[in-house]
Amino acid sequence: MNKKQKKMLLRIIISAVLMVILHFVKAEGWLKLALYMIPYLIIGYDVLLKAFKGIRNGQPFDECLLMTIATIGAIVLGITGSGDYVEAVAVMLFYQVGEWFQSYAVGKSRKNISELMDIRPDYANIQNEDGTLEKVDPYDVEIGDIIVIQPGEKVPLDGTVEEGTTSVNTSALTGESVPRTLRPGDRILSGFINMTGVIKVRTEKEFDESTASKILDLVENASSRKSRSENFISRFARIYTPAVVIAAVLLATLPLLYELLIAKTSPDLGKWAYRALNFLVVSCPCALVISIPLSFFAGLGGASKSGILIKGSNYLEQLAGTETVVFDKTGTLTKGVFEVTAVHPDIIDGEELLHMAAHVERYSLHPIAVSLKKAYPNEHDDCEVSYAEEITGQGMKAIVNGKEIYVGNSGLMDSIGVEWHPCHHQGTIIHVSMDGVYAGHIVISDVIKENAGEALESLKKSGVRKTVMLTGDNRNVAEAVSRELKIDEFHSDLLPEDKVMRMEEILEGKEKGIVAFVGDGINDAPVLSRADIGIAMGAMGSDAAIEAADVVLMDDDPRKISKAIRISKKCLRIVYENIWFAIGVKILCLILGALGLANMWMAIFADVGVMVIAVLNAIRALFVRDL
Ligand code: ADP
Ligand code: MG
Repeated sequence: MNKKQKKMLLRIIISAVLMVILHFVKAEGWLKLALYMIPYLIIGYDVLLKAFKGIRNGQPFDECLLMTIATIGAIVLGITGSGDYVEAVAVMLFYQVGEWFQSYAVGKSRKNISELMDIRPDYANIQNEDGTLEKVDPYDVEIGDIIVIQPGEKVPLDGTVEEGTTSVNTSALTGESVPRTLRPGDRILSGFINMTGVIKVRTEKEFDESTASKILDLVENASSRKSRSENFISRFARIYTPAVVIAAVLLATLPLLYELLIAKTSPDLGKWAYRALNFLVVSCPCALVISIPLSFFAGLGGASKSGILIKGSNYLEQLAGTETVVFDKTGTLTKGVFEVTAVHPDIIDGEELLHMAAHVERYSLHPIAVSLKKAYPNEHDDCEVSYAEEITGQGMKAIVNGKEIYVGNSGLMDSIGVEWHPCHHQGTIIHVSMDGVYAGHIVISDVIKENAGEALESLKKSGVRKTVMLTGDNRNVAEAVSRELKIDEFHSDLLPEDKVMRMEEILEGKEKGIVAFVGDGINDAPVLSRADIGIAMGAMGSDAAIEAADVVLMDDDPRKISKAIRISKKCLRIVYENIWFAIGVKILCLILGALGLANMWMAIFADVGVMVIAVLNAIRALFVRDL
């Protein structure tokens, strides 16, 4: 509880106690009014102030105004007739209890969520030359510095392990509860927690650019992107409150006019005024106004707890309606770790072919490049790579020891007019040409991620109707992968711009619902941003993907796609449950109130009740079962 909440609770208790005491005090007339004004002002002064401020600023229509009119009205009724002021105090009291509960519950769940996301490290240990450790602000650590991370500490910056072996808890980033073992040479990300060993890490990114900072940025900005339902609520409140005030005025005057002018009986002034006030109290839309953003917030929190970052509530809404999921292949459905399975040289020997290919790939970050360099471990010898150019989605060109060498797929060979030899091996075929002469090809193959099959199956269970795969790889490989994973449709040999074109075709198609694209950001960032909803795999990988995507899966597990869809469906279901429940009870109370069957007590009680239930319901969105 914060200070404000404590103060409020105190006010609630004092005025409640005073109310009970006053019940036993025998006072009449003005004295009674004066006595009841004490608890009334204690509990309600801020509401009255806010209402008057609202009027002064020309934006009077909010719940404070409703409460002010209703309670002052009740007091006036007390003065002129009934002599009863309990109702005015009680209405204010209940309203404040509701407000208190709301701020407590919202505060509590926000705190829970931010605690879950408590990955921002406060310091880093730098090793001085004499071997002592010095605690420094992680902002001051530069790229290439060596930091020491002890067991129990949060990893402050992204880097590679230089020395030591340890197991790390990655759950804050990935939602994965099984610890991961890291050895020298492995990448380590800020936000992991070091558990068992002391390790030395060479930093690769500055603090601002490190994973933990980036994720916190994303989460902090997520709630500013509002969903349609949230916008609906604020528009609704803008029309609703004035409408209710007008309706109340009509309710207070029309029946009177009727009785006066048409029925010509002497009207009961108090009765209709009371009903109108009643109507005002009931109409307060608090439950609706708070429970909807809270439900979305809980949904976003629940998702990030599972290692799924959703950049705004609007995307939760979109995810829930996803019917078509389009996949990239390499790095998304497959591991993106290629093994060389065959080398078919033409004019030079096999060793030399691998050697040249590895050099050409020196500056490329493509998974194929990484694998070719791994297959030829002495890549950093004294050969000179004087020029290198990536031909996106096709391969690489480089000048090695003065020779112009191309490494890439058959499309690349066609475009430079080099005749290539087809290969009967199953796999991705990487052709090599040297100074315009065909030098042979290397067959490499990738493995499908262990979870990919299960991921596609659970997508269908989550209501996705169609799955499509787009790849720059050849038809053979594409067909094999999509057959194994039972993907409905595939398109192969695509350049990055062809992928965008295919995506546009899918978006124009009929009965496709919302189209999601899942990619790793390598050669597919434009498609990620073109799709209705872009899901980036491997937050561990490409920064471009994290930027372009609407949803980021923190580990490379494709099963998280259907999980994200289920989380958003549950969240949306809760939002609608709350909307209908709140509006339903409201309408019922309004009708009962207008008919004179419900009093103000009942009305305010119903409102607080609805709010409590709606808030509790919203919090359910935090929890999602595994499938
Ligand atoms: P995917 O669509 O499967 O993710 P990409 O669009 O990244 O694949 O690449 C398509 C094809 O282009 C690859 O299968 C490969 O044949 C070729 N290619 C792309 N980059 C390189 C590279 N750096 N070296 C060799 N070949 C490459
Ligand atoms: Mg790719």
